[in-house]
Parts: sequence; C-alpha cells; structure tokens
Amino acid sequence: MKYISTRGGDAPKSFCDVVLEGLCRDGGLAMPESIPQIPRETLDQWRKIERYSDLAVEIASLYATDIPREDLKKMMDRAYNGENFAVESIITTRNIANNVTILGLSEGPTFAFKDMAMQFLGQLFPYILEKQNKTLNIVGATSGDTGSSAIHAMKGKPRINVVMLSPYNRMSAFQTAQMYSVQDENIHNIAIEGVFDDCQDLVKALNNDIAFKEKHHLGAVNSINFARILAQIIYYFRGYFMATKSNDEKIDVVVPSGNFGNIFAGIMARKMGLPIHKLILATNENNVLDQFFKTGIYQPRASKEVHLTSSPSMDIAKASNFERFIYLLAGSDKTKALWQEIEEKGFFDLSKDPLWAERAMWNIESGSSSHADRIKTIQAVFENSGELIDPHTADGVFVGSHYLDQHIQLCLETAKPIKFYETIKQAVKDAPFDLTEVTRIEALPQKKEVMANNVTLLRQFIEAVLD
Ligand SMILES: *Cc1c(COP(=O)(O)O)cnc(C)c1O
Repeated sequence: MKYISTRGGDAPKSFCDVVLEGLCRDGGLAMPESIPQIPRETLDQWRKIERYSDLAVEIASLYATDIPREDLKKMMDRAYNGENFAVESIITTRNIANNVTILGLSEGPTFAFKDMAMQFLGQLFPYILEKQNKTLNIVGATSGDTGSSAIHAMKGKPRINVVMLSPYNRMSAFQTAQMYSVQDENIHNIAIEGVFDDCQDLVKALNNDIAFKEKHHLGAVNSINFARILAQIIYYFRGYFMATKSNDEKIDVVVPSGNFGNIFAGIMARKMGLPIHKLILATNENNVLDQFFKTGIYQPRASKEVHLTSSPSMDIAKASNFERFIYLLAGSDKTKALWQEIEEKGFFDLSKDPLWAERAMWNIESGSSSHADRIKTIQAVFENSGELIDPHTADGVFVGSHYLDQHIQLCLETAKPIKFYETIKQAVKDAPFDLTEVTRIEALPQKKEVMANNVTLLRQFIEAVLD
C-alpha cells in the first residue's frame, strides 16, 4: 500500500515513511492510494476473533504493508492489553436506552479515546525509528486529551522527544495535572499564552519550514497522522461486532467531533465495507463542521472566535482531518483548489457545486449542542439508566437523539466521566465518583514552561533543548 497527499503534490510513500513525516510536503495529508475492501466472509471471520489485539493485526496489516505481520502482532499485543487498559476487552459497551449503546473507548491510561490510537503509536514510532536508525522529535499541539495521551504513550520511549504545546490555563485541573506531572526527561510541556488553535498554528508553522523540520527531525502525533486514523478504524469494527449479533445488521454511529479524526476513521471503516448506515457528527458551540454539513460552507474561524466550552476537547476553529473527507469526495486537484480558496477568502462554499447535490449519499448527519443541552443530557441519561457520561459524550448523545431510527445507535464515548467530574457534578449533584485517583494525580508535582504565542521563541527552545 502506498500513500499519497490529499493535494496531489507528493510522490507515493510507504506507510512507515508517512507515519514519520506527519504533514505532507505539499501541505496536504497522507491517504492510502486505495481503500481495502473487506468481503463478507472476512467480516464473518473477524467477528469470531477473541482478542482486540488480534483484530487489530488483521486490520493494520492491510494498511501497514511494509511491516512484517509478526512485528505488527508484537506491537499490537504490547499496545492493547490489560496493563495499558483498565479492562481486558480494551473497549466496552453499555446500554443507556432502548437501541442506544455507548461504546466505551476511554479505558486507557489518560481516560480518553485518544489512548486508543496513541498506545499503538507508542509502539510504532520506536519500532520504525529503530529500523531506520533515526530519532524523532514530536512537536504537537493539544487542547488537553491528545497531549496527555501522547505524553503517556511516549514517556521514556527510546529515540523520541516530545514537545507538547497546550493552551495556558485553558485545560481542566485534571487534564493539566495529567500532562504536567510527567517528569520523564524526554517530555517537554510548553504552556502557550493563547488558545488551542494558536498552538496548532505554531506547530504548522514549524512543519511548513521544511529545512527546520528536517534538521530537527520533527514529526507529529496529532490526528493528521494516518497511523492514528488506522488505529481508530479498528474500534469501529470491534465496536460493531460487540453491539450487534450478526453482520446482517446495520448500525448508526454518533461521534463527538473536533478535528474530524474520529469520525473520519468511521468513514474509512464504512468504505471498507463495515455495515454502518448513518454517521452522525456532533459538535459543541464550536460548530464549523455542523455548519458545513448544513449549508455546504466550510469556514474555519479565527482562533479568538473559539468558544471555551464544557466539552473543551472539541473546542476547535478548524478541523484538520476534514481535508481527507473532501479529498475522498472530490480528488486532489479540487482539494488543493479549495484549500487555496480558504487561504485567500477564509472559506469555501460547495452549496452550488454538483458535489453538494449528492450529499444525501454521504449519509452523514450533524448537529451541535449547548452547555445546557449537555447538562440536561447527562442528567437524563443518569436518571434513565444509572450511567454517567462525560460532557463530550453528552454532545453525542444529545445530537444522536434527533436522529434515532430503526438501527442500533452506537454513541462513541470519547472520555470517561471522571475526567470532567467538575462539569458532571453540575448535572448530577451526588454523582457516585471515586476521586482517589484524580486527587492523587492532581497532587503530583508539575513541570512546564510558559511561553508567549511566538514561533521564534519556540524555534529557540527546540534548538536549545533538543539534539
Ligand atoms: C479529541 C477529542 C474529541 C474530538 O475528536 P476528533 O478526532 O478531534 O474529532 C472528542 N472528545 C474528546 C474527549 C476528545 O479528546
């Protein structure tokens, strides 16, 4: 399998090479040249596989064709086991209403679904670096969960440094503690005086400077990395098998969305042949994606227009992986032209484009929620089922409730409720939380550097600290 850029400007590359590279040289995102098709017989076999990690090997071997299968198996066994995850099954299902099932993806070390992909990357990166005799400096941006998850997956790993930018004073106390309490020497937390998109822009600025990027071996773990999409495709398959009795059933899947990475993995899984009927995209007040699916206009916002919400991991102004979706619809020439339009005008409008006339075939619904909607949803779910859900998952359950049909609706749980206990207490006063672990982590000593939103300072830091 070769990988090409969504903007068509890069020579085809192998899986391992695009994983290390992150963003393509032409500014686009890596995509496989073709999407593997899973025949019904294979789906039937996959349903019978007992261990999560074994299904992971089957799916990964279709995409990572330059890695021997036995090596993939070792990596998957080390990534997906009962030590890294709180349950042997790795993911869980629980019913919250007739036909509505929560798919629990947050049993990893940082209590959020990002661990699902990051634990794989924590194996994959050192493996590739060892093979190619290279080192890697991961420079990433996080609104909380990604960074934490990356840090916990990469801490102490050979050949890797992590420089993680996070918005200063804009994460929950627990998210902050989870990130800044890691003391390993290869982990560098930088608190940027700005919002998440400022952090993301700083990372992009470095990546666009190819000379700097190569000199300092910069790479990415944010959701533009195709290996993360791959790891996420796996739980769509596994979740489908867990939530249904046979491969004749179709399901709807609700995805709390920010950077469009999680739902894009669902789009890929459906294209591979997984019987997903509708994908339902949920946003919070930062609803650029909902706006696109309602109007055909994609208009990323300025970072100062980002609302700070009670589902902070979805507080984004633009959705990087959305480019991959447009590429699948329209091809690389048009993708390149549309992103050029964004550069020039700040948006693109497909409402008069022939593509928009076909949107019923996309089978994607969307909606957004407010803080009040989330609180009410958390309350209602608790009253009706005794289950607690976190505010991001509540975005999903709320939006999903407008699109119930005859199919099972699988709502992806992107974080554990305990991670956002402060918000949940607003909804359910006597929420049955055991806060021992949270209190322990919040009390740990923290290590971070505060920095102005300035790319020159960041360059200086990297030059001084790495290599
Ligand atoms: C990252 C994240 C999201 C958004 O996922 P995307 O892949 O960026 O769309 C939603 N909820 C939580 C808790 C997250 O950490």
